[in-house]
Amino acid sequence: DRPVVSIVGRPNVGKSTLFNRIVGRRVAITENNPGVTRDRIYEEAEWLNKYFTVIDTGGLEPFSEDKILSQIRRQAEIAIEMSDVILFVVDGLSGVTATDRDISNILRKSKKEVILVCNKIDTPKTPDDIYEFYELGIGEIIPVSAAQGLGIGDLLDEVVKYF
Ligand code: GDP
Ligand code: MG
Repeated sequence: DRPVVSIVGRPNVGKSTLFNRIVGRRVAITENNPGVTRDRIYEEAEWLNKYFTVIDTGGLEPFSEDKILSQIRRQAEIAIEMSDVILFVVDGLSGVTATDRDISNILRKSKKEVILVCNKIDTPKTPDDIYEFYELGIGEIIPVSAAQGLGIGDLLDEVVKYF
């Protein structure tokens, strides 16, 4: 079976935009409206001749930011169970939020490989303030701009190392 890579994170961080980048076409619907994602959430993808399945977990069971922790936990646990590698996406423009901390607490306890993806870094030079995300305790931060298509190759290089 192909390895499964899931994209996890709070609403509006750019999960669906990143999903579309990784699969190389626009299949997930991205919305300004936090938590709104429909359409395709599973797609096949390839990088360096390695084939894998990508899941946009925002479309599994969307939660709203003001909803209870149990909903967030359930979504993260579904992702953990299904995946070999988890892309935990945070928003480099907004900084660390309480929901990011909740999600990271759950992911850190899993035995799965977790890659911390700092999205919305739309300039070639990475701003120093993304290093605040180290407090989440996930490890190395990979800066990307899903919207501009920056850093995606470096991210996928890391992903396929785990297969
Ligand atoms: P999701 O809720 O996590 O699936 O987030 P979406 O992919 O729907 O994106 C939410 C919003 O963030 C949309 O308005 C996107 O256009 C915007 N967005 C996504 N990626 C980027 C990025 O790399 N840079 C910037 N500036 N905005 C982005
Ligand atoms: Mg989405």
